[in-house]
Amino acid sequence: MRLCRFGEGRLGVVDGGRLRDVTAALGSLPSYRHPLPAFDVLIAHLEVLRPAMEAIARESPSLPLPRATLLSPVANPGKLIGAPVNYQQHLEEVLENPDLHHGNQVPVIQRAGLFLKATSSLVGAGEGITLRKPDRRTDHELELAFVIGKPASRIARADALDYVAGYCIGLDISIRGPEERSLRKSPDTYSVLGPWLVTADEIPDPGALELRLAVNGQVRQQSNTSDLILGVAELVEYTSSFYTLYPGDVIFTGTPAGVGPIQPGDTLTACIDRIGTMQVDVRAESP
Ligand code: MN
Repeated sequence: MRLCRFGEGRLGVVDGGRLRDVTAALGSLPSYRHPLPAFDVLIAHLEVLRPAMEAIARESPSLPLPRATLLSPVANPGKLIGAPVNYQQHLEEVLENPDLHHGNQVPVIQRAGLFLKATSSLVGAGEGITLRKPDRRTDHELELAFVIGKPASRIARADALDYVAGYCIGLDISIRGPEERSLRKSPDTYSVLGPWLVTADEIPDPGALELRLAVNGQVRQQSNTSDLILGVAELVEYTSSFYTLYPGDVIFTGTPAGVGPIQPGDTLTACIDRIGTMQVDVRAESP
């Protein structure tokens, strides 16, 4: 199932190039009072709600896909987790380019560990990227992203894929410079997730997906998730050895080689096998 959020918090099932509005299924979610849970309530109940969503989708009129209003498929993630230099060829390009490493040591991911991005940075494809620091080099990073479906603590890699709710295309937009990653990668709109969530049953092997990003039609990044140093299962094992993952937590798996700067007016086109394609516009901040 391909699940999207669009418009004013509506929920849709993507069916080919069309959309069926299943917002009514949200009415079956439990109601919460303050303090609200620190995980995404829809993702936590995805399996329970799925029959209702499928039933409503069958009766719901088919609408054109509203690219301009696609929101992040996860509304309230507790964590956005990033994997630094998780492709060998990207590690090599970073080591060769002072604009990318800024004199910092660039250890392999097993030594560097993972980082967190602010959850307030998260947007969907239709919301676009607004450059916050126009005087600073800001790069595109295309990444396979996955969403945790149930609480996961100290999970062995053999069991790890059972904890994945689904997959999305991720963009980990990054200001280059000497500051901590958590700062440079956290401005509003610098985490793009979309165009929808493809549930894990549709992607039995996340380690064999072609991914490609073009800027204004020119291909800049092209790779395959088979080149990930730590794959999806290893990332679940590694992160969950340090902290509990909760439903709706998003893990950005790292970018392949070919990162480069983006400018206002650019359109990014990102594709990943079995997920789809999303177009994302880059804007200047309005004065
Ligand atoms: Mn990244």
